Amino acid sequence: MSGTLKATMRLPHPVLFVSHGAPTLALDESHPTHVFLKTVGKGLPRPSAILVVSAHWDTEVPTVTGTVRNDTIHDFGGFPEPLYQLQYAAPGNPALARETAGLLQAAGFEARIDPSRGLDHGAWVPLMLMYPFAKVPVIQLSLQTRLGTAHHSRIGAALAPLRERAVLILGSGGATHNLREFFRPTPGQDESYVKDFSKWLQGVVKRNDRKSLEDYRSLAPNAARAHPTEEHFLPLLVAAGAAGGPGQRIHTAMTGNSLSMDAYQFF
Ligand code: ZN
Repeated sequence: MSGTLKATMRLPHPVLFVSHGAPTLALDESHPTHVFLKTVGKGLPRPSAILVVSAHWDTEVPTVTGTVRNDTIHDFGGFPEPLYQLQYAAPGNPALARETAGLLQAAGFEARIDPSRGLDHGAWVPLMLMYPFAKVPVIQLSLQTRLGTAHHSRIGAALAPLRERAVLILGSGGATHNLREFFRPTPGQDESYVKDFSKWLQGVVKRNDRKSLEDYRSLAPNAARAHPTEEHFLPLLVAAGAAGGPGQRIHTAMTGNSLSMDAYQFF
């Protein structure tokens, strides 16, 4: 069996978590994570569809996008004009959106479909690099940040059957995400606290220690500093929940001194 054929038949489909950093990652060809995202898709089986959970969509109840074609939401301000010209018009998949909502409801969650929302930059920045032709259908699922880690882990577990249908479940957030320190670094600030947190995270994911992942705020070094708010961490919980097994760090880099750009693959 050829490598390619093997790759196309690999089920359940691998799960990914990527860090998207700043929106300018889409244009910054010299950033190691830009280069990484351009190649990571080539090492995966081609997905039938992609379900993205981004840090940048938070709703009262879990909500899935049900559009036929995705609009590109430029949900940021003060960046260079070319960034606002970028479009990622991937098709949606209303049937998959309904199926996803059904899986969540069967697991006891309330779930809704948003018939018109497009993709925020947490979704389209990595997707534009991973799948530049925008041919693979994409749906997006929202976070409920106020409900914390265990909720998102259970959401992920409810989505696991989609992996058998070759759906790529893609969490997009940040392995660390202290924006205040990114914009206003404190004198003498270095990235050692980021490295300590990232190393802890790598170990927990590698040994599939879901309990520690859910309790990261009390267990991980510098957790509150690494994630002053949780929305960039929670997509990793969804990914780990969907995977139900160990993951491997497949990329490490930094944006500034406070944004770890680490990525994980769950096989
Ligand atoms: Zn973000």
